[in-house]
Amino acid sequence: MKKLLATAAALSLSVSGLAYAEGGVTDEDIASDAQNTSQIVTNGMGRDLQRYSPLTNINRHNVKRLVPAWAFSFGGEKQRGQEAQPIIYDGMMYITGSYSRLYAIDLKTGEEVWQYDARLPEGILPCCDVVNRGAAIYGDKIYFGTLDARIVALDRKTGKVVWRKKIADYKAGYSYTAAPLIVKGMVITGNSGGEFGIVGEVQARDAETGELIWTRPTIEGHMGTYKGEESTMTGTLNATWPGDMWKTGGGSTWLGGSYDEETDTLVFGTSNPAPWNSWLRGAGNPKGTEGDNLYAASRVAINPDNGEIKWHFQTTPREGWDYDGTNEVIAYQGSDGKKRWATADRNGYFYVLNREDGKFISATPFVENISWAKGIDENGRPIFNEANRPGNPADSTDGKKGDTIFAVPSFLGGKNWMPMSFSRKTKMFYVPSNEWGMDIWNEPITYKKGAAYLGAGFTIKPLFEDYIGSLKAIDPVTGEIKWEYKNEAPLWSGAMSTAGGLVFIGTPEGHFKALDDETGEVLWKFQTGSGIVGQPVTWEEDGEQYVAIASGWGGAVPLWGGEVAKQVKYLNQGGSVWVFKLPSSFASAN
Ligand code: CA
Repeated sequence: MKKLLATAAALSLSVSGLAYAEGGVTDEDIASDAQNTSQIVTNGMGRDLQRYSPLTNINRHNVKRLVPAWAFSFGGEKQRGQEAQPIIYDGMMYITGSYSRLYAIDLKTGEEVWQYDARLPEGILPCCDVVNRGAAIYGDKIYFGTLDARIVALDRKTGKVVWRKKIADYKAGYSYTAAPLIVKGMVITGNSGGEFGIVGEVQARDAETGELIWTRPTIEGHMGTYKGEESTMTGTLNATWPGDMWKTGGGSTWLGGSYDEETDTLVFGTSNPAPWNSWLRGAGNPKGTEGDNLYAASRVAINPDNGEIKWHFQTTPREGWDYDGTNEVIAYQGSDGKKRWATADRNGYFYVLNREDGKFISATPFVENISWAKGIDENGRPIFNEANRPGNPADSTDGKKGDTIFAVPSFLGGKNWMPMSFSRKTKMFYVPSNEWGMDIWNEPITYKKGAAYLGAGFTIKPLFEDYIGSLKAIDPVTGEIKWEYKNEAPLWSGAMSTAGGLVFIGTPEGHFKALDDETGEVLWKFQTGSGIVGQPVTWEEDGEQYVAIASGWGGAVPLWGGEVAKQVKYLNQGGSVWVFKLPSSFASAN
């Protein structure tokens, strides 16, 4: 029935330009997004972020015939990284671009219906390129965050602003880049700025009005709020932070979160504690949990009804390498039938956690030559290699620079923001990863509002001569890497798997690729004209399957990649979204 309605709406749209699905996206649409192949109304193709499609029209046998249906340019003289995932709904594609822009595009023709440009103030402080990772849709509104740390609700039909709210003060280093999450009529957002001594937070707002419902800071000692009143303190003051350091403790929630309906749980990851120099945060002679710096470099599970913390899991206590714990946590059911959470951390380990309480189950390395830890113990705590912590500046002769060490992975991580996919067909995770290390050293630093708060210097270096990027197929039950696909430049694009036996991923070299989900063999590729750091999606309309990806090189690698950035500086910028399909004769034959 839904499909019929959507088709009818699309038909009348092409005639009158006025008819749309009345009332827009429902809670049921959002809850069923992973199963409904005719639209994509969540970031992650379902709020558990599996990025898996049951569609089989495009499959191993015919994917080599995939051709462009249309492409759309984001325009403007400003380009930079295009990291967004498209939303597909009611005959339209909604996609965000760099510099806080949002486009509504006619799905049939690829023509622009409206465009919204946030007017960004002077002095915004995005750490790692001017990216945006996508919008949310609910009812008749489109929501997205802007680089000046605001959230905007737009009318999906006209692009007109319905409401616009401040998440935090951009002058203090806050920004916003993640796709918002819709749960129980609320728009839920994180924040960015972990390199500026900000404090991480998750906020829930009434999707209709934008009014705050609750806030939950992610650093111990800070108070949460509920309906305008103080609620509870996060953690216990000074349990794991020395002195006043918690007040500027980082832990930004910059990649947004996932939602598991079965356990009614939000899970948000948190960035590095601030500053990067761990000696200033009590990492020196830890007794018990002193210097652990909760809840930075952690996954924090939150009750969506009141913003209270249900459980937490800290991947990197005493964090000293910028191993943000922000990477997505995916609820899934593995080949053993067990329902778990999984996450691939910046620190190079792939973790499996218990679904009910977040208790540690397993951790296995997914990149080569990890140096900072010798392994993970039975409680999920790293067994540190203390010699691989950047040296304390206080131990140097002039007190200005600690010993430099070479650490693996680099601070950009075994895996960074680029989302992995869980295939409900193969029960495997497809993880975009990178093999690199870094020289890193610590320096003294004091907090200054709106200034970088690192106390560290660094240079990223490749580990191997012929490749950095590595897409891996990981069995979460055993931690075994079943296959690996190597790419010369670092991977910075999301992955998507399908029931057609395919894994889609983009490369900085510009290729959009489809790989065999069992072997990693490349079955199809297409040159999009600029590097891909976007997130693939697929849907069907009128019996034909479509695949889309944004193209536009940028993100953190060219800005922070050290020697690696020099290696890839030949890559051209761009800004477009590409849509592919099978030629009609093949589409109907399958
Ligand atoms: Ca960081």
